[in-house]
Amino acid sequence: MPRNPLASMPSFDRCELTLAEFEDAADAAVARIPPELARAMTNVAIFIEERYIPRANEDPQTSLLGLYEGTPLTERDAWWAAGSLPDRITLYRQAIQDSCLSREEVINEITVTVVHEIAHHFGLDDKRLHALGWG
Ligand SMILES: [Zn+2]
Repeated sequence: MPRNPLASMPSFDRCELTLAEFEDAADAAVARIPPELARAMTNVAIFIEERYIPRANEDPQTSLLGLYEGTPLTERDAWWAAGSLPDRITLYRQAIQDSCLSREEVINEITVTVVHEIAHHFGLDDKRLHALGWG
């Protein structure tokens, strides 16, 4: 079998998927979310971006696999109207692919990332998630 001369170079050790393949993997990952959890995901939209862009007050090396933005269910009260923008979960495609060698690993990583971000939707913070093994 011919050897790939680039295979030993770490920068090539990543899963390369097209955007369409990644979207497919994201759908497969969402389908794996336990139904009780999926049913409770009200008003949450999932977006895919290439990479997280650190904000001015953050370490410029900050690399995230996913990000939750919105108002956790536990913090919604009377002022949180039905017309509020949906919460959003962003998946950072390139960062996820950097940490994976196969499509199967990408699906697993997206599943863990989405469950982690959904947990933020339910008001769990990173410390608690880390303790539960979803960090
Ligand atoms: Zn988090």
